[in-house]
Amino acid sequence: MTHIPARDGGVVDVAVLGGGTAGAVAALLLARAGCSAAVLERRAAPPDFTIGEGLPPTVHPLLDRLRLLNEVRAGPHLPAYANRSAWGGEALRDHDFIRTPYGHGFHLDRAAFDEALLARAARAGAAVHRGVRVTGRPRREGGAWRFSLADGGSVREMAARFVIDATGRAAAFARAAGARRERYDRLVAFWCVLPAADAGDQATLTESFAQGWWYTAGLPGGRRVVALMTDADTSAARAARTAAGFGALLAATRHVHAACGGAAPAEAPAASGAGTARIALPYGDAWLAAGDAALSFDPLSSQGILTAIYSAEKAAAAAYHVLRGSHDALPRYAALLDSIFAGYLHDYPAAYAAERRWPDEPFWRRRASPPHPLVRRAAAARAGA
Ligand SMILES: Cc1cc2nc3c(=O)[nH]c(=O)nc-3n(C[C@H](O)[C@H](O)[C@H](O)COP(=O)(O)OP(=O)(O)OC[C@H]3O[C@@H](n4cnc5c(N)ncnc54)[C@H](O)[C@@H]3O)c2cc1C
Repeated sequence: MTHIPARDGGVVDVAVLGGGTAGAVAALLLARAGCSAAVLERRAAPPDFTIGEGLPPTVHPLLDRLRLLNEVRAGPHLPAYANRSAWGGEALRDHDFIRTPYGHGFHLDRAAFDEALLARAARAGAAVHRGVRVTGRPRREGGAWRFSLADGGSVREMAARFVIDATGRAAAFARAAGARRERYDRLVAFWCVLPAADAGDQATLTESFAQGWWYTAGLPGGRRVVALMTDADTSAARAARTAAGFGALLAATRHVHAACGGAAPAEAPAASGAGTARIALPYGDAWLAAGDAALSFDPLSSQGILTAIYSAEKAAAAAYHVLRGSHDALPRYAALLDSIFAGYLHDYPAAYAAERRWPDEPFWRRRASPPHPLVRRAAAARAGA
């Protein structure tokens, strides 16, 4: 057994599980506040590509407040000027960001973005450990969380006064601690990265079809991401698992295929869950969940990264206050996440309701209005609470 070095008797103030956007931001802010923070990331090395690249213009004040905006501006990311969609009809419609106070959003090189955040956290004093995985059930002993970390061939013991679960949709610590994850639908995503001669006109293009929807966006470095969203039980989901099946579905689109220059994937696409989910109570005894681990949004909302950053900011503050003896920091954090989720439930079903061309298809029937099943589920969850 080896021990992760810590400032005080082998116990760090905060262990942050997961070194994605939420984990990196939480560790950075804790380190800035003078806490000893250790990021424990499962991946041994930074990935070549991370899905989720669109930052809306409304992210500017948040990045500015966290002193991250200049770094994002100086990074390899592209400005994003519009959302363009064929939704509710075949014609493309533009939502131009020039009408927002901030002018543009970003198409991130997401892997580079997360990596830069982790480097900022390390420079601020956080310890960043890669290639480690929590194994077994965490134990609460002597005022600290103690758990074992598989690290290649060896096992490390870790102790932390507080744990932030930023493991994304896995919500690994929260679930091990017994938290219940509510899933609101069975949306799945399939995606691949294609070479692109240029980034196009730097708009995110969205196109609906009978069994779901597609999006594509130009990326830095002469690449383009193309992604299909559908429910796990559709024939599109079954077909999309192979390069040929994904390519055939892509070729059947009108605008997305054209934006990809007619390119087809050489390999089977990557896949993951993409539906709406949350941890009903996103905290427990000296732990909380942030980012997707707490609230996972449908990518149609374009709110995932922004919410990961914002919830990480509030998670770091809550952890800081708990370590200083506050009793209400965690319930206040949970109430904030509740209000974010309520806003999401209020806004986002309308986007699905705007597509009425396939009322008999299960994908669209499940999302038809009124009332959207998400809202019914939320009301039922509240009534049962
Ligand atoms: C197809 C698709 C497209 C999307 N597009 C957008 C978009 O355009 N804009 C947007 O805002 N959002 C988008 N999202 C959502 C966005 O990607 C997420 O909201 C965001 O990644 C959440 O960040 P996070 O840090 O909470 O989690 P993640 O980015 O998932 O990071 C979690 C980290 O934890 C690590 N980890 C997992 N388990 C463990 C463990 N047991 N121990 C240690 N480490 C662990 C992982 O390796 C990872 O590094 C999209 C999502 C999908 C699926």
